[in-house]
Amino acid sequence: MINPKLLKQFLVEPGSEVDLKKYVTDWTETEVAKELGKEVIKERAAEILDESRKQLAETQELLYAADTHSVLIILQAMDAAGKDGTIRHVMAGVNPQGCQVFSFKKPSAEELDHNFLWRYMKSLPERGRIGIFNRSYYEDVLVVKVHPEWLGPGAPAEPDEKFWKQRYEDINNFEKHLTRNGTLILKFFLHVSKDEQKRRFLERLTNPEKHWKFSEADLAEREHWKEYRKAFEDALTATSTKRAPWHVIPADRKYVARALVADLITTAIQDMGLKYPKVSDDKMKRLAEARAKLEGNNAADE
Ligand code: ATP
Ligand code: MG
Repeated sequence: MINPKLLKQFLVEPGSEVDLKKYVTDWTETEVAKELGKEVIKERAAEILDESRKQLAETQELLYAADTHSVLIILQAMDAAGKDGTIRHVMAGVNPQGCQVFSFKKPSAEELDHNFLWRYMKSLPERGRIGIFNRSYYEDVLVVKVHPEWLGPGAPAEPDEKFWKQRYEDINNFEKHLTRNGTLILKFFLHVSKDEQKRRFLERLTNPEKHWKFSEADLAEREHWKEYRKAFEDALTATSTKRAPWHVIPADRKYVARALVADLITTAIQDMGLKYPKVSDDKMKRLAEARAKLEGNNAADE
């Protein structure tokens, strides 16, 4: 597993003002990484991903057996930052019955007719399960902060700072409610650079197998890069709390992002201190009886 001291640099310290320039997008360009060399990092990242995946599969079984808590993983990012690939790689070993992924797109008319948290509430993970939100209620302070005209009926035409502050408060209170009720919340912002996004878009335009991934809307959103950045900084500043902190994950190298997310998720679930349910004396007695009976049956057949 990765040294927790190293992981701290990706945590948004609750109460701190986020300046995304201070968080790297390409971790292999840091001094520590340069000393190690890219090839070593790539190999180590693959090992960490593999190790974390195995442990995650075991921990998820415990989460399911204990049936006392749930885990909510939130992934937010600019387009092409690698949310889908991260989910696929990190969750590869987990029992599909214990894990649910929800992707949130533009809200429907029905969804816009409710409070902004409504559609997310309906998809929260049950006890014993891991729920992954591929985009989440954070879109309601990100994309719509950049495009207030998408807020839907009932919202002010020109929302002011107070409006957004209230949404951050609603989110913090919602997360407080969830954590108090046994949900572990882990939030990841996959931090990709504008150059790397360009490279990935170009790859989608040149590689026939990736054409399907290209969307003209993504190019239009890229024009708003600065506004998105500011919206992310404001949201991360306002909503990184002790109970539900944000991690800013350097995402220019997919292998780095996947290893970090896998390690952080696995470690956090392991740290919950879950236990297999204790079997009552009465149940133990019945188990012993069943065993004796089964063994007796075998003897009779032989
Ligand atoms: P992909 O990797 O497949 O492109 P995606 O998550 O980008 O995945 P899309 O269908 O391309 O999925 O985009 C979903 C769009 O829906 C995004 O532009 C996102 O900002 C938008 N969206 C999500 N939630 C909201 C919301 N609450 N209000 C307005 N737009 C939203
Ligand atoms: Mg998209």
